[in-house]
Amino acid sequence: MSTDTIFGKIARKEIPVQILFEDDQCLAFPDINPQAPIHILVIPKQALTQIEHASPEDEAILGHLLYVATLVARQQGLSEGYRLVVNNGSQGGQTVDHLHVHVLGGRAMGWPPG
Ligand code: 5GP
Repeated sequence: MSTDTIFGKIARKEIPVQILFEDDQCLAFPDINPQAPIHILVIPKQALTQIEHASPEDEAILGHLLYVATLVARQQGLSEGYRLVVNNGSQGGQTVDHLHVHVLGGRAMGWPPG
C-alpha cells in the first residue's frame, strides 16, 4: 500500500497532517507551501506514483480523485471557481512521486501557467 514518499507516509498516517477529507481511497490535506489562499492536495491511498503510470484498473481512482477535489473545493467555499492541477514528471513540475491533485483557489488564476 502507498509509496515510499512523504505522501506515502502521510497516507499511512506516519506523518500527521490536517485531514480535510478522507475516505477508504483517498485523503485531502493542505499543501505545506501554498501557492494560493486555498491550496489543498488530494492523494490516493494506493501506490500510484504519477498519472502517466496509471493503468486501466486505475480509471476509477482517477475519477474519484477529481470528484473528491470538487467536494473539497465546495467545502472550502470556492464558489467563484478554482483550479485543479496534476503535475506529471520532471518537466510537468512534479516533485513528489505519489500522485496528487492540487486544488487551488481563493484568487484569480493566470493563464498560461508557468
Ligand atoms: P508537485 O510539485 O509534485 O506537483 O507538488 C508537490 C506539492 O507537495 C508541493 O506543492 C509542495 O509544497 C507539497 N509538499 C511537499 N512536501 C510536503 C509535506 O511534507 N506536506 C505537505 N502538506 N505538502 C508538501
